[in-house]
This record gives sequence, C-alpha cells and structure tokens, in this order.
Amino acid sequence: MSVLVYIEPREGKFKKYSFELVSYGQRVASALDQLLHILVIGKVAREELNSLGQYGATNIINVSEDIPFDDQVFTGIISNFAKQKEANVVVLAHSLTGRAIAPRLAIRLGAGLSTAVNGLPASYKPFIVNKKAFSGKTLVQQEITTEVKVLTLSQNTAGITEHSASPVIEEINSDAVASATKVVSTEVITGKVLLNEAEIIVSGGRGMRGPENWKPLEELAQILGAATACSRPVSDEGWRPHHEHVGQTGKVVAPSLYFALGISGAIQHLAGISSSKVIVAVNKDPEAPIFSAADYGIVGDLQSVLPKMTEAFRKFKAS
Ligand SMILES: Cc1cc2nc3c(=O)[nH]c(=O)nc-3n(C[C@H](O)[C@H](O)[C@H](O)COP(=O)(O)OP(=O)(O)OC[C@H]3O[C@@H](n4cnc5c(N)ncnc54)[C@H](O)[C@@H]3O)c2cc1C
Repeated sequence: MSVLVYIEPREGKFKKYSFELVSYGQRVASALDQLLHILVIGKVAREELNSLGQYGATNIINVSEDIPFDDQVFTGIISNFAKQKEANVVVLAHSLTGRAIAPRLAIRLGAGLSTAVNGLPASYKPFIVNKKAFSGKTLVQQEITTEVKVLTLSQNTAGITEHSASPVIEEINSDAVASATKVVSTEVITGKVLLNEAEIIVSGGRGMRGPENWKPLEELAQILGAATACSRPVSDEGWRPHHEHVGQTGKVVAPSLYFALGISGAIQHLAGISSSKVIVAVNKDPEAPIFSAADYGIVGDLQSVLPKMTEAFRKFKAS
C-alpha cells in the first residue's frame, strides 16, 4: 500500500502549491506508515525534481514527455500508476486540472472521492477529512469508507514542511495510454496568471467606479506577478470578464495574499476568499464589512491610495 501524489509542473518548474502537496503526502504516508510516490507528468530537470526532497519526496515517478493536457489521458496515466504502486490514497491539487481528473480517477479506481479537503485528515482509521461546504460557511467532516481514497487538497490549508530526503527518481514513458480523445494542438491565448492558482490576487469592486479605472489595478497586479479578479457586480456590469468574478457564485480562491480594492465585503464575496492567507483591504468607508475579514486595512480613497501602493511596490521590487 502507498500514497500517490500527483503534482503539476508549469513550464518545467514547480510552484509553492506543489511543495504543499508533497508535504501533505509525506505526512499522510508517515501517519499510515506507507511509502510515498510523487507522480510528475512533463519534462522537468533533474535538479528541479531533486528539490522535492526538501519537502519529503522519497520516490518520484517522472513521465518525462510533454503531453498536452487532456483529462482522459491524464486520468489513464495516473490510474495506471495508482494501481501499479498499490496506492490507497491518491492526492491531487484542487486546481482546474485536479478537479477535472479526480472524479474520473475515482471511478477508474473504485475509490471514494473527497474534494477541496482542508488540511490533514482528522482521523486515519476511520479515514475522515475536513472540508468546507455551503460557500465556506460550514466545516464538514467526511468519512471515506472505500479502501482506495481520492482527495483534492485546497491550497494553503496544510502548509509546507521541510525535510532532507534524497529522492529516487524513475524516468519513464507514458506508453501512450489508450484514450477516446487526443489533443492534437494547443495555443496559449492568455499569458496571465490563472486565478485559481495565483499566489497573489488583486481584486476590484464597485469602488473602482468604472472599467476605465482598471489600468492602475492591472499595473499593480503586473508588478506583483498577481492575477486580477473582481466582485460580482463588476462582472455583471461588464467592467471585467465573468471568469474573474470571485465569490459564492464565482470562483473560490485561496491565495497567500488577496487585495480587496473598493470591495464592500458582502458575505457572498467573502465566501470565495475566506481561505486566503492574508487579506488587504482598501476602502473609503471605515465601517465597510471587508475590514472585519481583512488582516490589514487602509481607509482611504482608491484614487489616491492605489497609485501610492503601486509606486511603493514598484520601488520594493526594484530594490
Ligand atoms: C445569491 C447571491 C449571490 C451573490 N454572489 C456573489 C459573488 O459570488 N461574488 C460577489 O462579489 N458578490 C456576490 N453577490 C453580490 C453581493 O451581495 C454584493 O452585492 C457584492 O459583493 C458587492 O460588490 P462590491 O463590494 O464590489 O460593491 P459595493 O457593495 O457597491 O461596494 C463598493 C465598496 O467600494 C467602496 N468605495 C467606493 N468608492 C471608493 C473609493 N473611491 N475608494 C475606496 N473605496 C471606495 C465603498 O465604500 C463600498 O464599500 C451575490 C448576491 C446574491 C444575492
């Protein structure tokens, strides 16, 4: 029996979320007294793979081919390794790809599935995980009763633990998993940071006053390497695209740093950002509810505060 963690490289590099997943796998494997296998699909340099040892990776399987993402193909590859390594716990990111693969994987493996899991299991025997429900208003404990379990872990809920393992790396080919679909070409249509995977998000609300005022917000996001987001009325008004809308009826995000600029902090918006590590709010109304959720708050008019923030971050980044 073993624990299998699938992590996703981006252009041959790993992000912080991958380190959190490896740390998580290490802690679950150690609690169950099982081997940990890390599965990486894509061409990744040895040095980068070795760096996973710092987070407890002992065995790494690298399918060292750049295979275009196709949920059915990836499900096939991951389920083959899960069976080969007799994995009884399979962990994926609660990312766009993780969410696309996990249900298919659970079907293939005859496994119980728990998505958007928060932190380490509450218990291993029985296997009980914590997860948020009802837009983050409720914490649920869910028992997975099947022998094989598939989990997607919410970002920033388990933390990163440091180790000093020297991983054994197995480089292999996918052996062309048979699939009903095949990606024949892909073209990147936006180079922007993906909202669900962003470490930093700069988000604007109706306090931004109109689409013509978004340039400074985008500039701040660019300096910070952040994704941009918005409240629902902003996308409803057509100031920003719908895919940027965060909240109960939009995307649920969990960045390390969330800037809420001119956002009142309605409960439906907070439902989408409550797992953010640090929230910084700028609002001219000192009574705005966002200040109860924020870790840092600036009471002021965005027209004067935003350019000063941007300038300060520009200088900081340049120093
Ligand atoms: C069923 C349902 C689902 C919903 N789902 C979502 C959802 O998923 N996401 C979501 O965001 N909302 C959602 N909403 C809407 C939600 O209730 C709020 O109406 C919305 O979040 C408010 O957006 P806002 O904060 O941008 O705007 P407002 O409430 O209008 O707030 C604007 C804020 O900007 C401040 N401000 C104004 N001018 C300035 C300035 N110059 N400088 C600094 N601050 C300024 C104001 O003080 C105010 O606090 C939902 C509502 C319902 C009923």
